[in-house]
Amino acid sequence: MELWFTEDQTPEMRISCRVKEVLYRGKSTYQEILVLDTFQFGRMLVLDDIIQTTERDEFVYHEMIVHPALVAHPKPERVLVVGGGDGGTVREVLKHTSVQEVVLAEIDEKVVEVARRFLPTISSGLDDPRVKVDIGDGIKHVKGVRGAYDVIIVDSTDPIGPAVGLFSEDFYRSVREALRPEGLLVAQTESPFFNSTLVQQVQRTVAGLFPVTTLHLASVPTYPGGLWSFTIGSKVVDPRNPGQERLEMAAGLETRYYSPEVQHQAFVLPPFVAELVQGGDAG
Ligand code: SAM
Repeated sequence: MELWFTEDQTPEMRISCRVKEVLYRGKSTYQEILVLDTFQFGRMLVLDDIIQTTERDEFVYHEMIVHPALVAHPKPERVLVVGGGDGGTVREVLKHTSVQEVVLAEIDEKVVEVARRFLPTISSGLDDPRVKVDIGDGIKHVKGVRGAYDVIIVDSTDPIGPAVGLFSEDFYRSVREALRPEGLLVAQTESPFFNSTLVQQVQRTVAGLFPVTTLHLASVPTYPGGLWSFTIGSKVVDPRNPGQERLEMAAGLETRYYSPEVQHQAFVLPPFVAELVQGGDAG
């Protein structure tokens, strides 16, 4: 008998993956956690029936949430990851040799535990001595600090449950306060096809708080529509133009999707996305 996992990506569209084996199924205080071994994507982490990450395509998302922002910063030393309990974002941050400390503020201890156990290639950075895992609400963590981080990365679940506040103006304001003078915020901001209103709202909110606001795109096969967006809010530097020295450093990063060329290309927006960013029709 064949076993399939199906995610309702929208009420009218589904993605199904054939499953070799169910490796873990459990419930935490916050969500239902599932780890599947799939034929197409290898091991897959699913939270509340929504695919979070898979062994085969995780590199796209994790490289693209991290490197455009960290390459743009002249010398990132202290980095905060909000959410991101699977560890993939932390692993990419650690590729930057200037980084002295990465704090992972993840609300769900169980996600970290499950990722360590079943997703070793993704969670591999969590035991690095530069990493501090802080279990608790990322919103509270950010509100409790001032001028502490060079880059804050919001690697959240969709805006449901405890992640709703991670997309709010109040939260982005506290992120601005928690950043050092040359700091940057980068957040995953969902699909420009299916979450166009959210993309537009976040762009507008971040632009009201940060002098430089950008959107970049990457192709993640298991996310709805395949095309995913990331919003950067920056106090000073422009990630579209990090300068020659930083791009030379970026050329030395060991990556499979990101490259210095991609740093430029990812910010070139198809007209329907550019229109969203400029405040046009969100469809
Ligand atoms: N790459 C993924 C995606 O876009 O689907 C996100 C992966 S990561 C597993 C998301 C994490 O955010 C989850 O483990 C969840 O527990 C965490 N999270 C949600 N709300 C949070 C909050 N308020 N503070 C800290 N972590 C939160």
